[in-house]
Amino acid sequence: MTIQSSIIDLDFDRRHLWHPYTSLTNPLPVYPVSRAYDVFLELEDGRRLIDGMSSWWASIHGYNHPVLNDALFIQLQRMSHVMFGGLTHEPAVTLAKQLTALTPQPLQKVFFSDSGSVAVEVAIKMAFQYWAALGETRKNRLLTVRSGYHGDTFAAMSVCDPVTGMHSLFKGVMPEQYFAEAPACRFNEPCTLEDMTDLHLKLERHHGEIAAVIIEPVVQGAGGMRFYSPYYLSHLRELCDRYNVLLILDEIATGFGRTGKMFALEHAAIVPDIMCVGKALTGGYMTLAATLTTEKVADTICSGNPGFFMHGPTFMANPLACAVASASIRLLCSYDWQAAVLHIADGLRQGLEPCRASSCVADVRVLGAIGVVELRKPIDMAVIQKQFVDKGVWIRPFGRLVYLMPPFIMRNKELKILTNAVCEVIDVLQ
Ligand SMILES: *Cc1c(COP(=O)(O)O)cnc(C)c1O
Repeated sequence: MTIQSSIIDLDFDRRHLWHPYTSLTNPLPVYPVSRAYDVFLELEDGRRLIDGMSSWWASIHGYNHPVLNDALFIQLQRMSHVMFGGLTHEPAVTLAKQLTALTPQPLQKVFFSDSGSVAVEVAIKMAFQYWAALGETRKNRLLTVRSGYHGDTFAAMSVCDPVTGMHSLFKGVMPEQYFAEAPACRFNEPCTLEDMTDLHLKLERHHGEIAAVIIEPVVQGAGGMRFYSPYYLSHLRELCDRYNVLLILDEIATGFGRTGKMFALEHAAIVPDIMCVGKALTGGYMTLAATLTTEKVADTICSGNPGFFMHGPTFMANPLACAVASASIRLLCSYDWQAAVLHIADGLRQGLEPCRASSCVADVRVLGAIGVVELRKPIDMAVIQKQFVDKGVWIRPFGRLVYLMPPFIMRNKELKILTNAVCEVIDVLQ
């Protein structure tokens, strides 16, 4: 018997596997993970990293959680999957009950899909089918704001920030949408209609062609980690009503407690016509997303041609994913998650504040369990990633942003190590 030092064939990975947004001819190193538990990622060489990313907003309860594991084991023994066409099952129904109870009351109709991007595609399609059913065939475009992120498929990409989303590259293949200035009023600031003149103007001019406004409520995530005023959303809701366009809220990153509210729309107490959730929906265990809408939108879609909604993924409402999502929501609601998130917010605020002293830092901001250090210049990922790993933390910056969004179970001790690592790494930047 031979003992292999590395079970994962990293050379094969380097030559054959795409990772997110990477080059295959000049790949940066990837770190082999052999297991993950609690707030830790364990590398193959035995090193243990504290997770500052929640695997991109998703693993809110940490890894290898006994409650979530159990939910999966139990469901696995019943069935891992059956088609959703013509069949239904308890995990889907239970999860839909939880989602409709947790989200604003008018959102009563649930469409399950496989990923956030698809949930956004579904939302956009719902908006188009809604207006088509009303005979408004000219309303086939979208309005959004700059610095947004809504996913990587074509329709979702068309409403991402045009610059960071590289829209020039996909010209001609991708639908062209209307863009207003990104919200400028910060989270704790008021926001008046005058602060949204650009968006207002675009609605006034083009509402005859606009099916919906799509926006990430309160937190613009991958498009820049910006936190904006909830008053912006209140005005936006009014404007959408006034100009007869639907409002789609993309809660894929913000949903399930991350901003200190169960959903970010609660900061503004508004109700969208369509809402997308994903990422933390399954506690980071499996890929699953959902698009919720109102009875009015659903009924209108079904009253038009062809009389039903035109979408149906193969793995729609996968029972394993629904069962673990259901358990994740029950788990979240079983303890004072809000206190946990606020406690993390305090730790992030205290821990990241010293970064302000560095001349490389443009801004430090915290909202809920999200802490962001914005630098003046983009960082060198190849260098910085290794420095973080050497300090025993998993933090993955992008562009000018170094940010933390730890699992809600993060303890003071580990949080302090994460924030110290950020400050130390930034301190030696030039
Ligand atoms: C991640 C994200 C998406 C896309 O979700 P995927 O599961 O990666 O397809 C869409 N919208 C927002 C706000 C996101 O953060």
